[in-house]
Amino acid sequence: MLRGIYPGSFDPITYGHLDIIKRAAKFVDHLTVGVLHNPAKRPLFSVEERVEMIRQSIKDIPNVSVEAFSGLSVMFAKQKNATVIVRGLRAVTDFEYELQMAQTNRVLSEGIDTLFLTTALDYAYLSSTNVREVACFQGDISKFVPPFVEKKIKEKYS
Ligand code: ADP
Repeated sequence: MLRGIYPGSFDPITYGHLDIIKRAAKFVDHLTVGVLHNPAKRPLFSVEERVEMIRQSIKDIPNVSVEAFSGLSVMFAKQKNATVIVRGLRAVTDFEYELQMAQTNRVLSEGIDTLFLTTALDYAYLSSTNVREVACFQGDISKFVPPFVEKKIKEKYS
């Protein structure tokens, strides 16, 4: 059984993330979305809120689950018996960091590989950061996130 993890901040989940999740779910038998609890960052949403929004977003995809984790992605992968780490690539600006991370993870754990999926062109511009910025100024984010996520963000900024 091939298991993968898709780690990230997901603050909040966007249609770009969801596209990667749906496509990655076709490559592995089971995919666990890992929501990173990073005490150094001050996220808009708590880990619990982020996990809940992802849970709602993936409810129709049978081989995907979500949970929170802290620490290294490779440790989380081992915990889940996963040999694949999924990451999305939007532009060259993502590439250098992602390459370095993948190589570091490979040194840390030889049995784990990173699988990169390039973003769907429709979502190439999209990041959680720009969703938060647009929402903060009451802009329309309905093209960026599912309706229940939109509602949650509006509550935060109201
Ligand atoms: P991190 O803080 O780990 O970068 P993010 O939630 O920002 O967490 O992103 C998680 C992963 O999803 C990363 O691999 C990122 O490149 C990818 N990603 C983010 N937005 C998109 C998008 N619009 N299309 C494809 N991949 C994306």
